[in-house]
Amino acid sequence: MRTHARAVVIGGGVVGVSTLYHLAKKGWDDVCLIERKELTSGSTWHAAGLLPLFNVSYSVGQLHKYSVATYESLQEETGQDVGLRKVSNIRLARTRDRWDEFLYYSGIAETIGVNVKILTPEQVQEIWPLCETEGLLGAIQHVDDGYVQPADLTQAYAKGARARGAEIYRYTTVLGIEQLASGEWLVKTDKGDITAEHVISATGNFARKTGEMVGLDIPVIPVEHQYIVTEAHPAIKERKAQGLPEMGVLREADSSWYMREEAGGLLLGPYEVGAPVCYVDAPSDQSEYELFQEDLDRLMPYIETAIARVPAFGEVGIKKVYNGAIAYTPDGSPIVGPAWDLKNFWLNEGHSFGVTAAGGAGWQLAEWIVEGEPTIDMMGVDPRRFGPYATRGYLREKNEEAYANVFTVHYPDEERLAGRPLKRAPCYDRMKALGAVFGSVYGWERPNWFAPEGFGVEERALDKPDVLLNHNHPPAAADGKVKELWSFRRSNYFEQVGREARHVHEAAGLLDMSAFSKFEVWGPGAEAWLDSLVANRIPKKIGRIGLAHLLTKAGGVRSEFTIYREGPQRFYLVSAGAYERHDFDTLQKLLPPDGSVMLQKVTTQYGVLVLAGPQSRAILQSLTDADLSTPAFPWLTGKTINVGHATARALRVNFVGELGWELHHPIEMQTTIFDLLMEAGRAHDLKPFGIRAMDALRIEKSYRLIPRELSIEYAALESGLDRFVHLNKASFIGREALVEKQQVGFDWAFATLDVHDVSDADARGNEPIYVGDQLIGRATSGGFGWRTDKSLALGMVRPDYAEFGTELEISILGKRHMATVVPESPFDADNERLRA
Ligand SMILES: Cc1cc2nc3c(=O)[nH]c(=O)nc-3n(C[C@H](O)[C@H](O)[C@H](O)COP(=O)(O)OP(=O)(O)OC[C@H]3O[C@@H](n4cnc5c(N)ncnc54)[C@H](O)[C@@H]3O)c2cc1C
Repeated sequence: MRTHARAVVIGGGVVGVSTLYHLAKKGWDDVCLIERKELTSGSTWHAAGLLPLFNVSYSVGQLHKYSVATYESLQEETGQDVGLRKVSNIRLARTRDRWDEFLYYSGIAETIGVNVKILTPEQVQEIWPLCETEGLLGAIQHVDDGYVQPADLTQAYAKGARARGAEIYRYTTVLGIEQLASGEWLVKTDKGDITAEHVISATGNFARKTGEMVGLDIPVIPVEHQYIVTEAHPAIKERKAQGLPEMGVLREADSSWYMREEAGGLLLGPYEVGAPVCYVDAPSDQSEYELFQEDLDRLMPYIETAIARVPAFGEVGIKKVYNGAIAYTPDGSPIVGPAWDLKNFWLNEGHSFGVTAAGGAGWQLAEWIVEGEPTIDMMGVDPRRFGPYATRGYLREKNEEAYANVFTVHYPDEERLAGRPLKRAPCYDRMKALGAVFGSVYGWERPNWFAPEGFGVEERALDKPDVLLNHNHPPAAADGKVKELWSFRRSNYFEQVGREARHVHEAAGLLDMSAFSKFEVWGPGAEAWLDSLVANRIPKKIGRIGLAHLLTKAGGVRSEFTIYREGPQRFYLVSAGAYERHDFDTLQKLLPPDGSVMLQKVTTQYGVLVLAGPQSRAILQSLTDADLSTPAFPWLTGKTINVGHATARALRVNFVGELGWELHHPIEMQTTIFDLLMEAGRAHDLKPFGIRAMDALRIEKSYRLIPRELSIEYAALESGLDRFVHLNKASFIGREALVEKQQVGFDWAFATLDVHDVSDADARGNEPIYVGDQLIGRATSGGFGWRTDKSLALGMVRPDYAEFGTELEISILGKRHMATVVPESPFDADNERLRA
């Protein structure tokens, strides 16, 4: 066994071996993989091998696409048959909402280049004659989709990796991992130690145990998953005898199962409610090719629907039931990328569709390790999208929920319930008493919108007994009413959100943004360090505020910070709530080694209440000694002020485009400040508002968000951040790439679209944008603008089509709408309201 390696991959499942292969393919031949037993002896061995391309996550969709596209070429390259069968995949729809989901997804698929066909029930019957089509609205078909033999695929990757110089040590167990003073890793195994520059953990069901070796609480706990294989069926044998093609993979999403042919019989895999987490403390040291006792009772309701849809399934006996562990994370997507707080330690864990994702995840992780950055936007799978709150108890609840929701309709406004409430700002109960309907981000409860008393729908009216998955609303509130219905279209809360948005514009609104990520940076080198990182200039004067972006080497946008200069060498940074761990980790890893800059995370020390609207000055002025007039307190400045007998950093910025202040206050003073504001606000008609109104208001200002309009896939200047990028600064990360791109020409341009003839479904982001039949871009956000009375979309289009006045078309839920490119900020382009 070698004693030194550039990179050591731990885990010989399909994911680890793919990572090894892709590292070797990138030219790193001094890499090795360590597997405690035989390759594939973890989850990979018992996987059904399906390769579902369907995925509503932009990141995961791209990983799956790469995998399916390259498994064939891997076979050609290595000569190892991977058992790839491109038999296609049909997903059935029984409800209107499911159909909307398919229409929405088809748009995403088109923008990422995945081939999706819409089928009628008759066409389904032609392809799958054993399938009854009663009650079906239609289906979508992925023609390039199918299945592989997971063990053969792993062996092909192993062969390809070895051919490039990589080594694989089987029956070798990693027992400990230490970081040396040099920064290198010492990987201790039962067969000897290896010193390595990089370590990649791809240990499947052992992820938490591996994490413990380096002090990481990895947010992965597996869930049991079963599939049933039947004896051969005469009708399938007959089809085979006649030389007819395999019928492909069938998915009845509304009943939560998949089915395909298997050795003349059928294979059925339900995703049932009630599947338990397993291996909470990792499998045993002896575990290999391990299966659990089957539990068919749990599957009965699903089996019944499967028999109703495909009667042949009930006509033959069960040959075998597989019950194995699938690694899960709280949102069901894998964790692929750098570990937080540790340098050169990488995670490729938490794969629930690991056979499908292995290729793409190995490819992008290898890019990240070798080049320093991935090439596709990995925010959706970044390990740092979960914070320290995602611990054992939370994972148990969330991972079981994620499993049970594999086939539910993925509404864009869905708010899942498990593990909630977890983090509550002190004003939570007050907001609730005012009618707040909460959503959750990064474990925080945040008001999404406010329901007036008595508002809602009787739960009885919503029952859909004809499908197993009736998951389109949260449970009824205390008054017995369901407050919101989740939808791809304008839903029951649409007008309420409109009222909130208009009220902010006409009077004043109060929003809880305590979830914001907050950091303090200070020390003799603070200014120079920040200046060397971000594309904008650092605010020069004490009290000034600037918006600054941390770019990738390639010029894409990795993070966005509001920077408030509080002292000669003291700064307060605010960024998106969901990216606290990501942003902190990124900054921390960039700190200079000489100790001249201090960085601290202060998110939970400060709450944030946003007071916005034309009356906000009068309200706040009545509570503070500070002069809030524009000459004394202009836009984009901040001050520590008193709010009654409490105190806050008041920042004159907001995300809604109205006069207002963000009040960043010691969190323990939040309810005091809240009560003072509400009391003072009574004379000025102050009302609370939620995130959904905020989002509608920000779209009217063309304000960009990560990872939508801002992403590592778009250069900062493509995203229209010209005002915030100073190429004449001496240096900052991404500068050279931007200068180069400016000379060669950009691929994309940011555009704000006025979408015409919208009656019930606004753009949401991810919709394809066309000129004629030519796809020229994608929407990144969308919604209704209540101040402009327009349905709007933000998006990225080919630069030739970004001129104001250009007529384009956007497809929203399969319907084409004319759309006009309009100047940025359709509301108050000159920012007069903000400066007032
Ligand atoms: C019943 C069932 C059906 C499935 N069907 C599908 C499907 O159709 N399509 C799909 O895409 N996915 C499917 N999956 C999921 C799929 O099996 C997994 O996502 C995938 O196999 C994960 O691969 P992995 O490499 O991450 O993990 P694993 O295959 O579990 O590999 C991890 C490896 O790490 C090794 N290891 C752990 N700790 C150490 C250590 N300290 N030292 C050395 N080695 C170590 C283990 O021995 C193990 O071999 C299914 C899963 C189940 C249970």
